[in-house]
Amino acid sequence: MKTVLEPFRIKAVEPFRITSEAERRDLLARAHHNLFLVKAEDVMIDLLTDSGTGAMSTEQWAAIMTGDESYAGSRSFFELEAVVRDLTGYRHVFPVHQGRAAERILFGCMLTPGQAVPNNAHFDTTRANVEYLGAEAKDFVAEAAADLRDDTPWKGNLDVERLAAWLDEQPAGRVPVGMLTITNNRVGGQPVSMQNLREVGELYRSRGIPFLLDAARFAENAWWIHRLDPAWREVPLRRVARAMFDLADGCMISAKKDGLVNIGGLLCLNDDALAAKIKDLLILGEGFPTYGGLAGRDLAALAQGLREVLDEDYLQYREASAQYLAEHLERRGVPVVRPAGLHAVYVDARAALPHVPPEQLPGQALACELYLQGGVRAVEIGTLMFGETDHDLVRLCLPRRVYTQSHIDWVIESFGEVMRRKDGIRGLRIVEQAPVLRAFTARLRPMAAGAATGV
Ligand SMILES: *Cc1c(COP(=O)(O)O)cnc(C)c1O
Repeated sequence: MKTVLEPFRIKAVEPFRITSEAERRDLLARAHHNLFLVKAEDVMIDLLTDSGTGAMSTEQWAAIMTGDESYAGSRSFFELEAVVRDLTGYRHVFPVHQGRAAERILFGCMLTPGQAVPNNAHFDTTRANVEYLGAEAKDFVAEAAADLRDDTPWKGNLDVERLAAWLDEQPAGRVPVGMLTITNNRVGGQPVSMQNLREVGELYRSRGIPFLLDAARFAENAWWIHRLDPAWREVPLRRVARAMFDLADGCMISAKKDGLVNIGGLLCLNDDALAAKIKDLLILGEGFPTYGGLAGRDLAALAQGLREVLDEDYLQYREASAQYLAEHLERRGVPVVRPAGLHAVYVDARAALPHVPPEQLPGQALACELYLQGGVRAVEIGTLMFGETDHDLVRLCLPRRVYTQSHIDWVIESFGEVMRRKDGIRGLRIVEQAPVLRAFTARLRPMAAGAATGV
């Protein structure tokens, strides 16, 4: 059998309103061509993010009911702690309200101005939390990641040679912690190989630098190792994941991804002295260490989510949906970034709309057309989000266990229709923007017909 089944049945449904194209044209104009300003109820298929947008299982909803809401010593905490210790092997387990809280607390305990944190690539909030403390967030992206159409695996890897050379130049005490992000979100959710994890760990260890994983998508990274590395093909996924965690000294996890919950995060490590400092900051900002900014029911749902996420059938289905989307978009002439990951499919907007120069925001223009065509919300990752940048991408994120095959087919057909009239698609110009993080609030307007390019 070639068909890969969704390994679940749907027990509760959330109806959405079917909108017309005329209606969406009006909604888009009223949102100033910024999809962040479109109301969610006016979106049919929302592929804005895979963060906190997943569907919980019946067991997770049951856990919501049985969660223990005690302020101190909640049973749900001890249950979560046991599950996380079993998964990661780390001694100290701190719940937090989401990933960036773990970043703020950890870096708050470790970083002083002038120091630096190396990583394969810092996620936006990770970078912001490092820089906020006056430290430098330094990326060592693998060379292979630059070519969007190249199928080389492990594009998420850290460039170990460049890191080693850079570390040689750093004065003593400049690098208090080294990181590795699995999967590498900033380069399209590409995975990191077990060999790279091992080499990075050895390098940090040889310099006496503690090694922390940013492991928001640990299950998806473990899946790729299982799928692509013959040495791990026969090893149960739970052991693959444990082997990744074993190579590091701790991790930060945004549980809104592979935790299969809508809110939550974790900070885990072995170092007793560091854990004591973290506990103080946790109490200051998040809450008592046995709930860390979450309700007892959230802890219980997270514990159950972590039990479910390494299920082979689930990850097989997740791979199948992402690969299906990527493959069928390509068949309709959509230039897809390769290899396609698990959490999202990225489209190269500069290749799709070669007549729209980067300063006219081809990624945003393409995302707006997709919304007009099918009520599908994607997100621009490019010039609007970052200012000047090497690529203009449209990211189609896949919420976990939410959309069915016909929803994906709708996305494919909508994108195909957009590609058929791509030559007539005009770029956008910014008419109003904030000084920071402009993508979230900027107001845009289509370029006038026949306007010269390169304005
Ligand atoms: C989402 C994410 C974060 C931040 O987590 P939040 O829960 O959004 O605060 C950090 N790192 C990576 C790799 C992420 O994907």
